[in-house]
Amino acid sequence: MKKIKLLVWVVALAAAAAFGWVVGLIVLAVLVPQTLAYLLRLRLALAPETKCPRGHSLEQYGTYRCSCGRVRDSWIWQCPSPLCRRAAGWVRCPTCGIAVDNPVLVR
Ligand SMILES: [Zn+2]
Ligand SMILES: [Zn+2]
Repeated sequence: MKKIKLLVWVVALAAAAAFGWVVGLIVLAVLVPQTLAYLLRLRLALAPETKCPRGHSLEQYGTYRCSCGRVRDSWIWQCPSPLCRRAAGWVRCPTCGIAVDNPVLVR
């Protein structure tokens, strides 16, 4: 009985050694594009300014009022208060009033 258990372990380890890279490749094929897409969206959100859908410039750093009521000089997409840390899903364009979505959250 012990020999059979040992044999099962040896076969399982041999299978993992022989075909484990296939699982790793599948995981990489999913994770790498997702991570790259996230980094591209983060790059847009961290730029000094973005555009509203009508093309008006919107500064992403400045005086910002969070929905918690705090007014701070900060990044527009997240409240800097350690007591809040809310992410803004969208902000209003200061020129035309249309919604500008948070690039990090857009999929
Ligand atoms: Zn806040
Ligand atoms: Zn606008």
